[in-house]
Amino acid sequence: MSEVMKTLPPFSRQRPMDRIIFRLAGLLIAFAVFAIDVITNMRGAIAVLDVTVPLLIARVGDRRDVLLSALGCTVLIVAAFFIGHWRESIDDAYVRLIVSIVALWVVTGLTIRHRSVRTLLAEQARALELTHDTVIIRDADDIIRYWNDGAEQLYGHSRSVAIGSRCEDLLHSRYDEAEVHERLARDDAWSGDMVRVRADGERLELLSRWLQLRDPQGRAIGIMEASSDVTAQRRAQNERQQSERRYTAIFHAAGFATWESDWSDVYRFVTDRAKAVEGDLRDWLHGRPDFIREAAQRAVIQEVNQAAVTLLECDRASDLIGTSIVGSHVDGAAGGFVEILAGLAEGAGVVEADTRLLTRKGREIDVVVRATLVPDGPPWSRTLVMAFDETERKEARRRLEQASADLAHAARISMLGQLTASIAHEVNQPLSAIMTYGKSGKRWLQHDIPNVPETLACLDQIVANGSRASDVIQRIRSLARKAPLAPEPIDLARIAQEGIALVRREIDDAQATVRITCRDDLPLAAGDRVQIQQVIVNLLLNAAQAVRARDLDRQISVTIGWAGDGSLELAVADNGPGFPTEDPATVFAPFFTTKSDGMGIGLSICRSIIERQGGRIFASSDDGGGALVGFTLPVPAGLPAPSA
Ligand code: ADP
Repeated sequence: MSEVMKTLPPFSRQRPMDRIIFRLAGLLIAFAVFAIDVITNMRGAIAVLDVTVPLLIARVGDRRDVLLSALGCTVLIVAAFFIGHWRESIDDAYVRLIVSIVALWVVTGLTIRHRSVRTLLAEQARALELTHDTVIIRDADDIIRYWNDGAEQLYGHSRSVAIGSRCEDLLHSRYDEAEVHERLARDDAWSGDMVRVRADGERLELLSRWLQLRDPQGRAIGIMEASSDVTAQRRAQNERQQSERRYTAIFHAAGFATWESDWSDVYRFVTDRAKAVEGDLRDWLHGRPDFIREAAQRAVIQEVNQAAVTLLECDRASDLIGTSIVGSHVDGAAGGFVEILAGLAEGAGVVEADTRLLTRKGREIDVVVRATLVPDGPPWSRTLVMAFDETERKEARRRLEQASADLAHAARISMLGQLTASIAHEVNQPLSAIMTYGKSGKRWLQHDIPNVPETLACLDQIVANGSRASDVIQRIRSLARKAPLAPEPIDLARIAQEGIALVRREIDDAQATVRITCRDDLPLAAGDRVQIQQVIVNLLLNAAQAVRARDLDRQISVTIGWAGDGSLELAVADNGPGFPTEDPATVFAPFFTTKSDGMGIGLSICRSIIERQGGRIFASSDDGGGALVGFTLPVPAGLPAPSA
């Protein structure tokens, strides 16, 4: 058996009783030797027996105790010698005295040395016992010689069963034998993975470290091994690898363009700034194209699939990896990116937005982009972006819209009755305004002293209403003529102010106040100026009529700002009685009216005007109890900002 195995100390603990017995025995021997030496005439011959004292004390005491016992014995030997041999001539008794003392101290020295080696080994053995790892020592025949608590717990075999058994029979180890043998022969050590079977049949995955034990002649005499259970970690690792493999397979096999980007820098950039933003982050982002551009530049593409390479018309994936998609952003189409940023910053895990991208060959494509956060690593560090090409779908939609516009045109022509009604409705208001201003102008002139400024003001209103009526008629004629829409950049705030001026008389008659609120950083909207003005005038007239139901404090407010979807929004709210129906949307139905002189087609015309221009009209009950009717209009790419 190896030296190591032989020197492994018994893991016995000292009992307090042992300590007393050993010390007493030491004391007894020392004094017995002293007494015999003094009483008998052995002339120091017996003193050499004192060497047993430090040996006994060493079993139970520490280094200091051993030294003290040796010192005590020395004193007793010398004392006994001089009591018995005082004034005797120097003879061989002195030699025996010196031999006894030398023997005592040689034995003491050896005992102390042996004791420290033993303490060290005992400590190491205790460490082996305490470790949670399994520690096994087996000899050259694979017979287990040492088996610690950790091994007992992990493998489920008790020490009495394990010691003396063949390790292979007990644990059915599986490992790379060729590699293990080679490493042990070369380095006397090996570490790696292995599989074993517990007493209850469960399969264990272990991380094991083996040490070749050799005798002084260098012959292999056994293995000392420490192993830890990594079954759970390996299982988690395997699962993770499997899901990574699945993810990569789906990523590359997906039929649509997909890329994975690291947006962690974008996250820091946006959240740092977002802290200082008061109000809606989306509104804030919409007004800052430079910030958006900078944020987009920080999103670095890590991986792309072939569909993305094809969609963006690149030669190979490496053209995109390490870059940001900002190189493919079309000017003015950052709105989609704003939606994504704002959505993610608000905590959404998946955000979808429409945008336009520029391929490497300079072609513009309409895409729906969906960003998904993969919950792994620092925030936004794995952002999966999928892009669906919408160009063909949009083209198909455009053709469909064309076809339905043609159909609608035919229907419109046949619905002459409605056309007549709409002419009557739209022209009625400016005509009656012209008549009223004509009459009051006449009255101003009939005064004794004709009031020229007031008359001129009336004439101005007559001209303005006259030209509006002619605009309206022109538009209605163009409807019948199938003239295409003429969208142009329009400043909603200015059109709203002009609209208020046109219905000033109705507002004044209703004794209402109008307040207009408009953000000053809004871009222009796209739409047909006259038609949009017609819509605003309609909404204001309805509001002016509604507030008449109140006795006091009649208020109308016009608010212009961003709609949630990146378009602009104008809303007219009043503090009248609110809508007459539970569902406010009913008011857009043709011929729905609650007024004795109403035609019920104003809001229905408004809806078709707004929808034709790519917007959306809506009605809701205002928080203050009144009514709110508003619409949105798109902000087309590349439009200049409104002049101050
Ligand atoms: P008309 O004004 O000729 O009735 P509209 O289509 O403009 O036709 O309006 C339809 C109906 O919607 C109105 O008769 C009224 O009942 C309701 N309505 C519209 N605007 C308001 C409003 N601001 N407050 C309350 N009801 C409204």
